[in-house]
Amino acid sequence: MRYSHLFGKTSKNAPSDADSPNARLLEQGGFVEHVMAGVYSWLPLGLSVLRKAEQIIREEMNALGGQEIFMPSLQPKEYWDKTGRWDSVDILFKIKSQTDKMYALGCSHEEVVTPLAQKFTRSYKELPLMLYQINTKFRDELRAKSGVLRGREFRMKDMYSFHTSQADLDAYYARVKEGYVKAFARCGLDVKVVEASGGIFTKKISHEFQALTPSGEDTLIACGSCEFGQNVEVATQKEGDACPNCGKPLVKTKGIEVGNIFDLGKKFPEDFGFDYMDETGAHKPLVMGCYGIGTTRLVGAIVEAHHDDKGIIWPKSVAPFQVEIVPLKSKDEEKQKLVEATVSALEKDLAERGIETLVDDRDKGAGEKFADADLIGIPLRLVVSEKSLAAGGVEWKERAAAEAKSVPLEGLGAEIASWLKS
Ligand code: ATP
Ligand code: MG
Repeated sequence: MRYSHLFGKTSKNAPSDADSPNARLLEQGGFVEHVMAGVYSWLPLGLSVLRKAEQIIREEMNALGGQEIFMPSLQPKEYWDKTGRWDSVDILFKIKSQTDKMYALGCSHEEVVTPLAQKFTRSYKELPLMLYQINTKFRDELRAKSGVLRGREFRMKDMYSFHTSQADLDAYYARVKEGYVKAFARCGLDVKVVEASGGIFTKKISHEFQALTPSGEDTLIACGSCEFGQNVEVATQKEGDACPNCGKPLVKTKGIEVGNIFDLGKKFPEDFGFDYMDETGAHKPLVMGCYGIGTTRLVGAIVEAHHDDKGIIWPKSVAPFQVEIVPLKSKDEEKQKLVEATVSALEKDLAERGIETLVDDRDKGAGEKFADADLIGIPLRLVVSEKSLAAGGVEWKERAAAEAKSVPLEGLGAEIASWLKS
């Protein structure tokens, strides 16, 4: 991709209303555009990152036996009446048609997935059943804030599982917990799994997946030495207490909730009269779990965890491009031709290797190109200039490293491919 053709531009100035690094850097780098409070457009650079993160999550949900579906955001009021949530969920957007019919805009999809699963599931032989989607959610949040971290329209992966027994749900829940940690790690994000409130349907705790960053909204009591962690909303421990697991002192820390998993018990199956037939033909109640990951929030959390004062530092797995080639103009016509030919050859070589490359062909000086490269945070920057060619090749600068080095053109494509795999 040539930068001059890429829709969306970097800006020299931070948006005046940016209240967090992700809000500032994603907008300044041309990844997203603010439309109104809590609502963003995603431009090609941002959409590329979002898609990569969502693809990683999709792979991990498939590995957990999930089957992908796609449910509507426009939902019948009757379903929400059935569960009693039409009146009890304060963040539910309710809309009226021109014939005065009322609809819900999905803030979650239990009301749609439960009757859907019911339609096709009768016997224990069809269970457990795990369905998920990656879809837009609408929530009438009182205060949208922190860029894409808390929106009114955002994307979420939500999975729902149906089981014949509590033991089966418990075992699956434990597998999802591991799958989530793996999915986040593949996106370059370390998460702490903490105990949190179970919501309104069960007395059970839920588990949140928290990215530990200073701009997190949630306060946690966590152990730095072992796995123990609790959201303060349910904490039985306080800062300085000995960890109930390992005895080390607990600390207070901030986190961004990127995922949350719940044991929903029998609430939704019961509301819809959804049961199953066991081996003896008897009708038995189902138990249900739900598992969410905010994918747009995840992109914001990755930025919060991976940036410096110059810009974003994307993990390789979700970077919009893996390599940025920065050609610098030469006044000498012959040398300029050589720079251009080198860039084209390198671009072709990388394309053949399936490496996504951005070429900064814009008519700008070195300073501006370097500043933008730091801002948009592509993992590897290769400068091709009269000077680099005289030194025998290109200048290799990793976004996460302080120093640049000169590398020969010979074997460069293979070297880049192996670096990207490392
Ligand atoms: P929060 O406590 O942050 O309001 P929640 O517990 O209500 O979130 P869930 O219903 O558990 O959220 O939704 C699953 C996931 O969706 C959350 O873990 C989070 O990553 C994401 N999410 C929830 N609300 C928002 C929002 N307003 N904007 C962006 N992502 C969100
Ligand atoms: Mg939650």
